[in-house]
Amino acid sequence: MSEIKITLPDGSVREYPSGITAHQVAQSISEGLARNIIAAKVNGQVVETSRPITTDANLTLLKWEDKEGKNTFWHSSAHLLAEALEALYPGVKFGIGPAIDNGFYYDIDFGDHKFTGDDFAKLEAKMLELAKKESAYIRKEVSKAEAIQYFTEKGDQYKIELLQDLNDGEITFYEQGNFTDLCRGPHLPNTGFIKAVKILNLAGAYWRGDEKNKQLTRIYGITFPKKSELDAHMLMLEEAKKRDHRILGKDLEIFAFDDDVGPGLPLWLPKGAAIIELLEGFAKKTEKEAGYQRVKSPHIAKESMYIKSGHLPYYKESMFPPMELDGINYYLKAMNCPHHHKIFAATPKSYRDLPVRYAEYGTCYRYEQTGELFGLMRVRSLQMNDAHIYCTKAQFEAEFKAVNELYLKYFKVFGIDKYVMRFSKHDPKKLGQKYINAPELWLETETMVREVLVNSGIPFIEVEDEAAFYGPKIDIQIWSAIGREFTLATNQVDFAQADRFDLYFINEKSEKERPLILHRAPLSTHERFIGFLLEHYAGKFPLWLNPDQVSILPISEKYQEYSEKVLNVLKKSDIRALIDDRSEKTGKKIRDAELKRVPLMLILGEKEQTDNTVTVRKQGGEDLGSMTIEAFVEYVNAEIEKQLN
Ligand SMILES: [Zn+2]
Ligand SMILES: [Zn+2]
Repeated sequence: MSEIKITLPDGSVREYPSGITAHQVAQSISEGLARNIIAAKVNGQVVETSRPITTDANLTLLKWEDKEGKNTFWHSSAHLLAEALEALYPGVKFGIGPAIDNGFYYDIDFGDHKFTGDDFAKLEAKMLELAKKESAYIRKEVSKAEAIQYFTEKGDQYKIELLQDLNDGEITFYEQGNFTDLCRGPHLPNTGFIKAVKILNLAGAYWRGDEKNKQLTRIYGITFPKKSELDAHMLMLEEAKKRDHRILGKDLEIFAFDDDVGPGLPLWLPKGAAIIELLEGFAKKTEKEAGYQRVKSPHIAKESMYIKSGHLPYYKESMFPPMELDGINYYLKAMNCPHHHKIFAATPKSYRDLPVRYAEYGTCYRYEQTGELFGLMRVRSLQMNDAHIYCTKAQFEAEFKAVNELYLKYFKVFGIDKYVMRFSKHDPKKLGQKYINAPELWLETETMVREVLVNSGIPFIEVEDEAAFYGPKIDIQIWSAIGREFTLATNQVDFAQADRFDLYFINEKSEKERPLILHRAPLSTHERFIGFLLEHYAGKFPLWLNPDQVSILPISEKYQEYSEKVLNVLKKSDIRALIDDRSEKTGKKIRDAELKRVPLMLILGEKEQTDNTVTVRKQGGEDLGSMTIEAFVEYVNAEIEKQLN
């Protein structure tokens, strides 16, 4: 039998007989590993662990911890859900059942039966009972005629409809236990991997998203390989509900939406605007120290620029429709990059000027479907912490490293302890089609990117064949304090735009040379980042970032004058404070300051007035005792200094 070479993600190469499966490869490494392999990625394609490998291949063994592993796990769970439903409610008809970010769903036509929340427990129990049978997911290639016949006999019109769009030779069935589904795969080795099940909720969903069609019941669920992981997830969901940025944003008067302004267009209330100013101040200072220059660009531009940049026609669906002026179409900008390229081109550049780093908190406008809009997380107007770096190839590594260090600095300041960088690379076979045809540049930059990531000790994963058309990219995934995952931003290398915009600098040999471009936005957009921070901090913004740092609480109106004196000292020291001069009891004032998440409270009465002091109470109840006003100012400044460094 012929031998094939299997290259593992760490670069090691092993030889195996042709026809080996990923499961067997895992076994040859260790039995423990083999038990935990959910699926395999062979030359960029995710397949079952039982699929024979017959050519030299790059192989990644996917575990639960991997995104594609979870995806396979949850999609397989949708099949298990369907098997359980068919056992409980014979005759139900099935739409589609994909994995989603956190779990999976299946669209079901229950006929006359009314499926409700009361049925969840029964369904979960059935799924677990079937999972215990450890039924293998068996792949079968079938002809279109056979497939149609099978579902015609079963009376599953939705599957027949799906089959109409498929061709002979690409149709597969998957069978586990008593259930057969039309599916492309891949799936788990067997149902026994699924150890914990939770049905989450129900929604109505029109078949194929078309409201002219019948409304099916969409059942959302999630599954885990361990019961303890399900428990932790449910706890996290409960906490996430309390920290919902849409509710906190309203309660804390940070942002609002208004019908007359339009969906997805947030209004920033004074407190929200204060947070934005503070974030920008911090970012601008950091960027200035890192050698960035600030630029400004208009919110609209002519169609011709977006044709040049390639946004039109490819990105057209994500842009607002054009507006016509003097017979010319103008578009609201969806990205700042083209504007910055024009700024680069506006003055001649020599190699001595590089690297050039242009930064702008640019407002962009993107069209998101109404149904996709979600609080601050999915919006139509966004203020981006954007910058573009133009550098020579020799400068690339240092620039890329500096950008990564910026990310790490921000993670530290915002208390983001868990993060992963997802490094997306090209596929050499697709050069000139999916990827710009610059083989050496791809290899060089990818090698440099990897070196920087390895040397800085940043956790990262490499993914094949997911780069942008114009260069390798890094998506940054972060986790909030309660363990929910967010995709923060991307950091991209760009070989294409310099060409499109004819950007060049004069090199040491007095020749024109194209710069490399880096796109980066570590703090994402104000919308997404503040949405994240609301959850992450549960609304308790740290002292440096809190719109109200200090609440002054006179215990009666006798101390109003002294309170104003304290307020003035704080104001002069740039500390944001307010006086709660309502004629409420002190206890009530403290509770309200707690609800507003004010970090520090100053309680002022007879003793404080006489001694010219303040009594300090921290949010949450810690008593810092009494101190002079000057000592308090010093304390605040020292705390902020600590938080920002
Ligand atoms: Zn499937
Ligand atoms: Zn850009």
